[in-house]
Amino acid sequence: MADISREELEKMIEKAKREQQAMLDRMTPEEREAAELRAKKLIEEDNARMQKLIDDAAAMSAASAPKEKKAPGFCPNCGAPADSGKFCSFCGSPLTTADNS
Ligand SMILES: [Zn+2]
Repeated sequence: MADISREELEKMIEKAKREQQAMLDRMTPEEREAAELRAKKLIEEDNARMQKLIDDAAAMSAASAPKEKKAPGFCPNCGAPADSGKFCSFCGSPLTTADNS
């Protein structure tokens, strides 16, 4: 159901913005102001909805990826790339790497 790609969502948002802008260009200042407020609200609601879809999709793909496994060579404390030393050269934490081969 949520079978829309991020790219398509962004295109839809862009298109809606352009259409609204084209409409605004043909209006009187009063109409424009009222319509602008309405449009802004609609766009915000749409964006929130779409952002949720994007977040859900991202959460799903993150959940399917192995995330417990930390890449070796990164400090578990500060996340700085660590070279072969036993301690992080940035924060000094011991680098707990499982394999010591
Ligand atoms: Zn560190």
